Amino acid sequence: MEVSLDKVELVADIREQILYLQELGVDAFDVEIAGIESVSNARSEITGLRSETAISLIPDLRSEIPKIEIPNFRTTRPVEPRVPGQSRLASLPSLASLSKKLETALPIVEDKQTADMTTAETMKELADEPKKEAIVTERSSKLSAIELPILPEPTETIEQIRAEIGPDCTRCKLSTLGRSKVVNSTGNFNAELMFVGEAPGADEDEQGFPFVGRAGKLLTDIMMAIGFSRDDVFIGNINRCRPPGNRAPEPDETIACKPFLKREIAVVRPKVIVVLGATAAQNLLETKVPIGKLRGQFHDYLGTKVMPTFHPAYLLRDPHKKREVWEDMKMVRDFLAATK
Ligand code: URA
Repeated sequence: MEVSLDKVELVADIREQILYLQELGVDAFDVEIAGIESVSNARSEITGLRSETAISLIPDLRSEIPKIEIPNFRTTRPVEPRVPGQSRLASLPSLASLSKKLETALPIVEDKQTADMTTAETMKELADEPKKEAIVTERSSKLSAIELPILPEPTETIEQIRAEIGPDCTRCKLSTLGRSKVVNSTGNFNAELMFVGEAPGADEDEQGFPFVGRAGKLLTDIMMAIGFSRDDVFIGNINRCRPPGNRAPEPDETIACKPFLKREIAVVRPKVIVVLGATAAQNLLETKVPIGKLRGQFHDYLGTKVMPTFHPAYLLRDPHKKREVWEDMKMVRDFLAATK
């Protein structure tokens, strides 16, 4: 039987999730489906996950899997020993809600109070909260055949990339639309943590460095709240030239500029990339999923963990969103601590 790649991938994903659930000791889970009364009489015992009208689905899925041949995915990435927090399964979107159930409940900082505090106060207050246990998942030995593409080996330096871009880049139309400086990435070329924004604003365009305006100051507070200074991290943008009126970069502009950022990521090889705002997140992850749905969980960029979160400029307009950013940054902090 001919099976499309989509279906093969879907089945592989389902299989991963089943294996993961099995590793957690779950034999079945219950889903209520309107209009279906009963699929199976022999329901497994799962404490706390059942309701009277629920249906057990896992046994059915299991019996389907062997009928489809899963190809042996081949890449150059060697199978690594398990490191806490690095399981690919840990980043499966559908498992996020399960992970949340396992978290220790955090004290909630009153929204109003958070909004009224200065950034530094807020971040300090939030930083003093109890540290959440990193969620550790087992990598199944059965998954060792599935390997993902990884960052290319670096064959250049950041200085060489900057030199190639040049101070008067004309690769896209932003060079003709009022930009004054090409704003290159800055910071630690060996950083374990990298921040990626959208494009320079007026302050950055004037000074030639990323995130030096009001949003940049807030970004500095955010990174300090998890123990990093600007000298520790690497900071860049999807686009290096200011779009007129601070509009989002257009696709032709991004296509011209983003490859340089990707080359820098391959040189710096951070453990985590925090992408700030929808434009940066969607561009790096090549998705159209809204930032509100992307944030709150790790994604993968060529084997590197990516945490999307709200842009600091957005936090300046809506300080209530600091709570979510703090949740995201705690996950970053805990992941980095676990990989030390
Ligand atoms: N916003 C960005 O996305 N990047 C900057 O460098 C400054 C503001």
